Amino acid sequence: MSDDRRKLQSTARQMLEGELLFSDPFLPAGRNPLPPPAASAAGAPAMTAEERAAALQAMDVNEVRGCTKCRLHQGRTQTVFGEGSPTAQIVFIGEAPGEEEDRTGRPFVGRAGELLTRMITAMGLKRSDVYICNVVKCRPPGNRSPAADEADACRDYLLRQLQILAPAVLVTLGNPATQKLLDTPVGITKLRGQWQKLPLLIPGLGGIDVMPTFHPAFVLRQYTADVRSKVWADLQEVMARLNLPAPPRRKGAGL
Ligand code: SF4
Repeated sequence: MSDDRRKLQSTARQMLEGELLFSDPFLPAGRNPLPPPAASAAGAPAMTAEERAAALQAMDVNEVRGCTKCRLHQGRTQTVFGEGSPTAQIVFIGEAPGEEEDRTGRPFVGRAGELLTRMITAMGLKRSDVYICNVVKCRPPGNRSPAADEADACRDYLLRQLQILAPAVLVTLGNPATQKLLDTPVGITKLRGQWQKLPLLIPGLGGIDVMPTFHPAFVLRQYTADVRSKVWADLQEVMARLNLPAPPRRKGAGL
């Protein structure tokens, strides 16, 4: 078989799988086991799950919930710290809480959140296997993107969350999260699908593998086979990096 034909077949398969990922009947029958937590980015011995959970909760309760470091505190109903496994190997990072998140105090619970959940499920995982958070912890008015000074004010919380979690992979969702974490002006369209390394943002935090991909809200707005297959390809990269096999599909949900 020629290289061109093989490439064409691979692209077609990718697009079909992308279609399945975002279609309702797709639910994997299996669930992927995740590897145990690694040592911290600084090489220190890994904290236990209980220690990580306690450190995250202390930051949330004692610092973030009462935070007034930027103007976003004025319009929030409540802060949205993040949620998931304290020993997560994958952290998904979005931009900012939206209306539903502001109301519930949980990240990614609106329509975009439903899509993110479906993406995680397609990887053979559950939301509780991963960790999900945003660059800023308070909802910007009118769901606008956070301003640079707002993201800067909230940066310390995010970096300390990542220090505690010490994940193997970060998946940045959309432009603001990608540019903030990678400290780059390059846009998501150029960066998505290509492995990056987290720069040394603070001592002890750097070198983590980063996979930039489109934000689920963008996917909902641009609901094309091309966009969906690109996101699925990015998630498959993450699965390959963590040695997670493609989960078997339920009967009747396949091609
Ligand atoms: S967005 Fe972050 S820095 Fe700004 S008030 Fe909320 S918690 Fe504080």
